[in-house]
Amino acid sequence: MDDVKTLFSHGVPTPIVYLTTINGKSIYLKQDYLNHHEVSGNKLRKLKYTLLAAQQSGLALLSYGGAFSNHIAALAAAGKYVDISTIGIIRGQELSDENRWGKTLKKAASDGMRLYFVSREAYRNKSQTNPHVEIKTILSKYPDAMIIPEGGSNALSVLGSAEVVKETAQQLEASVIFTACGSGGTMAGFIDGVAQYTPRCRVVGVSVLKQQSALSTTVRSLSQYHQTVAWTLLEDYHFGGYAKQTKKLLDFIMQFESTYAIPLDPIYTAKLCFAVFDQARQSNAHHSENWLIYHSGGLQGRGDFS
Ligand SMILES: *Cc1c(COP(=O)(O)O)cnc(C)c1O
Repeated sequence: MDDVKTLFSHGVPTPIVYLTTINGKSIYLKQDYLNHHEVSGNKLRKLKYTLLAAQQSGLALLSYGGAFSNHIAALAAAGKYVDISTIGIIRGQELSDENRWGKTLKKAASDGMRLYFVSREAYRNKSQTNPHVEIKTILSKYPDAMIIPEGGSNALSVLGSAEVVKETAQQLEASVIFTACGSGGTMAGFIDGVAQYTPRCRVVGVSVLKQQSALSTTVRSLSQYHQTVAWTLLEDYHFGGYAKQTKKLLDFIMQFESTYAIPLDPIYTAKLCFAVFDQARQSNAHHSENWLIYHSGGLQGRGDFS
């Protein structure tokens, strides 16, 4: 068993590699999927301070996710490493049949996460003030557990994500940091990190969901510095919506992986890298800058999506 500090000291700082230059934009990539051999990427960064709080208080951690959730995978694995009990409430009652589990759920269960499966209706109505009865029944078994929202974007996740920027600020002078956005905690953390460690840098988020109007609201509510840092969200690189792919995206992944020997996941980092290359091609060639792509991991989910 590790303590939480050891879990977070293994693979950091994660390397930054140079990819290419397009229109004067030198594009670099931070390989944060290398931060741990198993619990990799931003979902681990986001959990750091929640894990510390759970270890100090001795409380279990309970959270929510779909069948392929990187957050559920990271929470289960991190819980195993630092000996904290974890509970996952999973969308889809049909998944109570173990034969339907993909790689993510099998791994979460083998890491010791206690899994509960609820209907889609219950899952939609999981808000803590008045949750659906299916959810209430499960929560009543764990009155002391700390509850982490879906995707892991709580206030503590922002502190962990901000540390990524503290790290990159010592590695590369970047004008822009790009990250993929789902629930918004990573973006909020990057904004706060930029404000503290590299204030002239801009933050650009690439939304992987279609019409995610809640995203910028969440970023604003989680970030302390959203009014002082230059940040934007790109909403046109979702390729049809969350976990949707097109041939164009799949061709991009093949080409990217064979050129740079860096693996991409189809849900987050492929859309992110596509967006960055596209933005660089559209940019003004007379303006030179360093652009940094944050590779947030997600590779554990690839087994469920091949
Ligand atoms: C969850 C996730 C994101 C998005 O992070 P949020 O904090 O939810 O916006 C990006 N990349 C990967 C690989 C993820 O698993």
